[in-house]
Amino acid sequence: MLREGTREVIITSCCHTVNLLVEKYFPSLLGCLAPVKSPMHAHCEDIKRRIPDAVTIFIGPCLSKKDEAYSASIDAALTFEELSEMFDRRGIVLEKREDGGDGGEGGRARLFPVAGGILESMTYKNPDYTYLIVDGIDNCLDVLRDIEAGGLGRCFIEMSSCTGSCVGGPIMEKYRNSPVRHYRAVTTYAGESDFDISQPDPSRLIIERVARVPKREMPTEDEISEIMRKMGKISPANILNCGTCGYDTCRDKAIAIWQGKAEISMCLPYLMEKSERFSNSILDNTPNGILVVNESLEVQDINPAAMKMLNIRYKSDVLGEPVVRLMDPTPFFDAIEGKRPIQGKRSYFAEYGRYLEQTMVYDRTSGSVILLLRDVTDEEKERAKKADISRQTIETADRVVERQMRIVQEIASLLGETVAETKIALTKLKESVEHDDR
Ligand code: SF4
Ligand code: SF4
Repeated sequence: MLREGTREVIITSCCHTVNLLVEKYFPSLLGCLAPVKSPMHAHCEDIKRRIPDAVTIFIGPCLSKKDEAYSASIDAALTFEELSEMFDRRGIVLEKREDGGDGGEGGRARLFPVAGGILESMTYKNPDYTYLIVDGIDNCLDVLRDIEAGGLGRCFIEMSSCTGSCVGGPIMEKYRNSPVRHYRAVTTYAGESDFDISQPDPSRLIIERVARVPKREMPTEDEISEIMRKMGKISPANILNCGTCGYDTCRDKAIAIWQGKAEISMCLPYLMEKSERFSNSILDNTPNGILVVNESLEVQDINPAAMKMLNIRYKSDVLGEPVVRLMDPTPFFDAIEGKRPIQGKRSYFAEYGRYLEQTMVYDRTSGSVILLLRDVTDEEKERAKKADISRQTIETADRVVERQMRIVQEIASLLGETVAETKIALTKLKESVEHDDR
């Protein structure tokens, strides 16, 4: 293409994300995209041609290669992360060795995954063209818009959607994003010239690029308003247009939701507000009392249940006040000093006329001590009542037993007297009978 010099702009087609970007969002620039298969596509096809039964699996740092593999009939595309997980699951540990391949003089194509690597591996450069390296999605978008607007001509652009090209790919970034180290590693293993292999017929490398413009129907104003309402964007104070979600305005985001490209939850202020509302609702409605103090032992928050237990009328009466005004601060000190935390301890608070069960948690990150209170007055009174009834029952039983014992003793003594008298009478009778016989 460079030798022919007929194209105004040539954009490389190694990066599938760039190809998709042009096919979907810049269809007017399809003619600028080189109609050349990516290295992955060309290589896998070549393997299949030479070894028809081969299974081809691409392994790399790229997610969009999965989409390309699907559309290019490549058997599978794995990320480095997936490969490592497979090794870990099977307990496979790779032995590190010196590069045994032809990485010395040959292997210039190994420069492909770094920004500028494609340009460096080219043997011919038409002097009529300007050669540019564009990496990072924002830069790609700017340049594509510029070309569309007619601002760029007679240039050859190596375009990669990831910053630093594939060595800065999404799965590389997750672990150790060090573009300079990656660049150095790649260039160390790349040689000055090409591998000594026969090149495929150029006709086999050609691919037709077609527009895949997504259908972009627009919602009505009512539909946008309804989605904005669901997003909690109902007043100017909520419509922050902060761009955190990736859309310039909340309205753009609402349209994207309607088009199925975004979700309501992709809004940080919305999530924060929702989680705040959720926690407030729990705090306000739980029957358990919650009292929060800071490390200076000043009250930071108190919920309605705790206010009721501690006879507090207005929150403002205690906020910022020392907790000693409400209760003994010793357990709070202990919690901060890392002593054994209180768990379900029941105490009687005479000033409030209540038994309260206390559990204390120290959150080191926020420097807060959280006291959870449960009013167990009714339970304790019921327990005391039951204990009283048991005591009375035992006393009654003791009395009955004692009386019974007395009666038994009296009967026994009466029986003893009667037996003695009977014995005397019988002895006398026996003696008189013996006397008569003589
Ligand atoms: S630059 Fe990024 S998106 Fe493009 S092919 Fe490389 S890893 Fe994939
Ligand atoms: S993150 Fe939320 S508030 Fe910010 S622009 Fe997006 S929708 Fe609007």
